[in-house]
Amino acid sequence: MDYISRFRVEPGSQVDLSKIDASFKDQHESHQHALPEIETYRQQLADLQYLMYAENKRSLLICLQGRDAAGKDGTIKHVLGAMNPQGCKVAAFKVPTREEAAHDFLWRYHRATPAKGEVAIFNRSHYEDVLVVRVHNLVPQDVWSQRYAHINHFEQQLADSGTHILKFYLHIDADEQLARFKQRIDDPARHWKISDSDYSERPLWDEYTTAFEAALSQCSTPHAPWFIIPSNHKWFRNLAISRIVSETLSALDMKFPAPTVNINEIRKKYHQIEKGESPS
Ligand code: ADP
Repeated sequence: MDYISRFRVEPGSQVDLSKIDASFKDQHESHQHALPEIETYRQQLADLQYLMYAENKRSLLICLQGRDAAGKDGTIKHVLGAMNPQGCKVAAFKVPTREEAAHDFLWRYHRATPAKGEVAIFNRSHYEDVLVVRVHNLVPQDVWSQRYAHINHFEQQLADSGTHILKFYLHIDADEQLARFKQRIDDPARHWKISDSDYSERPLWDEYTTAFEAALSQCSTPHAPWFIIPSNHKWFRNLAISRIVSETLSALDMKFPAPTVNINEIRKKYHQIEKGESPS
């Protein structure tokens, strides 16, 4: 089965995260065992992103969401590491600045969407406005509850303009999150990643589950599907996401643009120069 069908949230379905195994690793016994497949998809990603950049007709938006320590940074490193920085960009969304907060909630996200030929990755996204905002009552319920429809319209509009949208929820369980918090404490090179909010948000695990399930259920559409990626194993998360991005881009049937010059004429000029003659 292809990974798009396997991990996509079917539009209109009701997500229950407690039924999804965060440690799933398909038929792979270990990271070592999966390495050749991981490498195949990395190479495919590189080739397809090059083609998208050359074709300059459409764009790809990848949104990453997950709980603290779910692996958004590691995913970006893996997926973007496979691509040419020319034509790729990352946008990270934190607590809105004064300027951002003075606009409608989608303003800051719309400005960061990819241009034709580009890939953009959102590290957190417009979904924060129905996640952290909902959990902490940062706006009244009648405001956040309208946002699911606003988000669906926004994504439809992007899709209608040639943007392909893939949204990944990095699914880890509570034990894995705690293990990653410990790794961060034990490794001085990771201390910078620790934030107070990791510890203030964890007791709200169930409230976040409800908010994630609502976003995943209400906003998985044919033009902007959500994927729930088992992410307790970092290597499986990387494999699954690279494979889904590759499967999506391969299906677009992209083509290199026709040359703007007559290649036979250019070849003739090249040979003239090679022989020391001036090109005619
Ligand atoms: P990260 O965890 O992404 O590496 P930070 O530790 O700086 O980076 O966390 C960013 C914080 O910004 C998160 O707690 C997130 O919930 C918060 N945030 C993002 N978007 C919004 C928003 N629209 N409203 C309020 N808080 C937000």
